[in-house]
Amino acid sequence: MIAIVGGGIAGLAAGYRLTQAGHDVRIYEAADQVGGLAASYETGGEPIERYYHHLSKSEETIVSLIEEVGLNEDLEWPIGKNAYYMDGTVYPLDRPWEIAAYPYLSLYDTFRLGMLVLGVDVREGLPSLEAYEELEAYEDVPLEQFVREHTTAGVYENFFEPLLDAKFGARKDEISAAWLLGRVRFRGERDLLRGEPLGYLKGGFGRLVDRLIEEIGAESLVTGTRVTELSTGNAGIESITIEGEESGTRSVESAIVATMPNVLEELTGYTCDIEFQGTVCSVVSMDEPLTNTYWLNIGDEAPFGALIEHTNFIDPSHYGDEHLLYVPKYVQSADDPLFAASDEDIEATWLDGIESLFPDFDRGSVNWIKTARNRRTAPVYERGYLEQVVPFDLGEAVGDGVYYAGMASRAQYPERSLDGGIVAGFEVADRILESR
Ligand SMILES: Cc1cc2nc3c(=O)[nH]c(=O)nc-3n(C[C@H](O)[C@H](O)[C@H](O)COP(=O)(O)OP(=O)(O)OC[C@H]3O[C@@H](n4cnc5c(N)ncnc54)[C@H](O)[C@@H]3O)c2cc1C
Repeated sequence: MIAIVGGGIAGLAAGYRLTQAGHDVRIYEAADQVGGLAASYETGGEPIERYYHHLSKSEETIVSLIEEVGLNEDLEWPIGKNAYYMDGTVYPLDRPWEIAAYPYLSLYDTFRLGMLVLGVDVREGLPSLEAYEELEAYEDVPLEQFVREHTTAGVYENFFEPLLDAKFGARKDEISAAWLLGRVRFRGERDLLRGEPLGYLKGGFGRLVDRLIEEIGAESLVTGTRVTELSTGNAGIESITIEGEESGTRSVESAIVATMPNVLEELTGYTCDIEFQGTVCSVVSMDEPLTNTYWLNIGDEAPFGALIEHTNFIDPSHYGDEHLLYVPKYVQSADDPLFAASDEDIEATWLDGIESLFPDFDRGSVNWIKTARNRRTAPVYERGYLEQVVPFDLGEAVGDGVYYAGMASRAQYPERSLDGGIVAGFEVADRILESR
């Protein structure tokens, strides 16, 4: 039997691939529900992810998997409208004329930003189309220095800095230029006249999770069960110890750890120095829309870095006409006062913040608020990151038959995603299949 630790998308993808190839797998999930960070809430209609999710056009593995399990007709690519909130005003930023009219960037700033996004280095007069191809070359370059040198001070201060503050907080100075270049490439094609098409699975990504469980067989999945130990001998992996629904020790042929790296360390002693940040994220259900934007970056002072109005992306009719707004904030440690606060206090903080940005916001229009928090939701892509990633095959470092498919793997760079989780699961499954 092949044991899989963690029933998030990575563990399920590995389980799916191995089951398809005829192997006997057992997936152990500590929580009562599978899906990990892609788990959902109920609404007045279809379920919604606890944390906002969409796909970029560059993500191909998840699209192939969605096709393979017969859900392709339900994968849609609506435009996700973006805007910036600055000095009390919402500025749409999708179409070229909107970007040109944005008062915080000069025309020259906009030109330099546009060239960077297209991957063209114009610093030497003659445009170079290949300057940013080798991401590794920018691994040790601080992001701020890179943006100031390759664009303008205005682009850094008025465009990137507020986004970096929202995403990495005080850690923004540690992030590498390679991360930014990888992110720009990751986004994929845009529709020049309308904006960026983003992928969403009708009914939520939970449907992909459910289809994978059907394919793997629900009997191979044990929820409410934590793996607490992984034992290896001279010949490699021997057994795992579990607590919960099926307590005890079981011998295994291989073990895939599809969790954050701190769990890998607890189970095997393998240490990974990648730092993780956490997220506090609420879904606010309202009777009416707050904005007409999907993704609103907040440049002004607010307790959250962005407001993501899901029902400006997917029609509210899917949710019993509820208007659904994500209010997220990244936190750098479990001691962050927001992370430690009660759901009620967090929710009051969000509503006060929304009211201060949108004085017409009517608290009476709120139907319900649900809040999720997780101490580890995204790696901090610091300089030198790629040297820290955990290999898929831990045969040498831990013992033969031990594999890693969690968020600290190479597949989750330059941005963690569902696609990256699936790639990690497949990479590991393929290595196991090749070894037999
Ligand atoms: C705020 C936010 C926004 C995001 N936005 C997007 C987006 O727009 N698009 C996108 O594609 N992705 C997005 N993601 C990322 C995406 O959700 C993740 O990359 C993906 O879900 C990670 O899957 P995973 O299986 O690697 O990890 P997880 O989902 O964390 O799964 C790991 C599982 O292991 C379990 N576990 C841990 N320890 C044990 C143990 N000892 N024994 C048994 N089980 C254990 C956990 O309970 C968990 O269920 C977002 C994530 C967040 C938090």
